[in-house]
Amino acid sequence: MNKKRLGLYALLISMMSAMFLFFNVKTVNAMPVNDYIISNKIQPAAIQNREGTFNDWTPYENGVGKPEGIVIHETADNRASAEAEYTFFNNNWNTVQTYVHAVADDTEIINMHNTDYGVWGAGPTANAKFIQIELCRTHTGDAFARSIANDAFYAASKLIQYNLPDTPGVTVMSHHQTSIKWGETTHVDPDTYFPMWGYSMNEMNDMIGYYYNNLKNTGSVYGGNGTNSPSNTPATNNANTINVANSKGNFVPLVTFDSQGNAKNVPNRALANHSAWYTDMTKDANGVTYHRVSTNEWVSSAYIY
Ligand SMILES: [Zn+2]
Repeated sequence: MNKKRLGLYALLISMMSAMFLFFNVKTVNAMPVNDYIISNKIQPAAIQNREGTFNDWTPYENGVGKPEGIVIHETADNRASAEAEYTFFNNNWNTVQTYVHAVADDTEIINMHNTDYGVWGAGPTANAKFIQIELCRTHTGDAFARSIANDAFYAASKLIQYNLPDTPGVTVMSHHQTSIKWGETTHVDPDTYFPMWGYSMNEMNDMIGYYYNNLKNTGSVYGGNGTNSPSNTPATNNANTINVANSKGNFVPLVTFDSQGNAKNVPNRALANHSAWYTDMTKDANGVTYHRVSTNEWVSSAYIY
């Protein structure tokens, strides 16, 4: 969380905690949050790679592309969406001396700094080791569950991307745990926020582990049968990074799929030549394999090198 906001919200947070505990709101729709996510096969959002303004390219202590795990934060801002946090961090990191790799809410996962390099989200020791993600606050049980699915999916995907084990407390730490272990910050997030939804860091670790094992063993967050395709054509989860270029033009075109599964060109957005994109799914349409790079934007394998 951001230092400046901590004081502003501390009183409100404690009042809300008391209120939620009083009403004993421990479940989403009378079901534990993880069970709600899994039984509804809530599909995590695609990880959008939207490089931000942060220009401190410090390698991790083990080198470029060698993170040792991930830190889970929450923003402590009751109103800010992932888009708002993305804007806030990119406009203010130099002033507030804080930046993270990614922000997630109930509808989006935005990766805003290349995870091969460190950021300024926790103390110097944790910053030299870990990828860091901020979870945004939501206001309904369903939205909270979706935000958790997105946060857990990002964490699991990054552990797999860097070939790291999923070890709670070691490769997955809350900001609070880094404060306890290294004593370089006093932040306790997300342990103030999670109890408002009857949730805990232990349950977050369970959710990350569920996705991690399924992605590792089957390539799908729900073990091969939980994919909600954006069209009628089945899509397959396939998490990796692709490099794209268009030898015949300055940009790599994108397509979107309509409800009938027909590919349509995206008129106002494209990918830069020789850019790297995280993709979480592939699908075939009219003999072409497409790779998903955002919620309903796909790039043809013809542009992958
Ligand atoms: Zn934090």
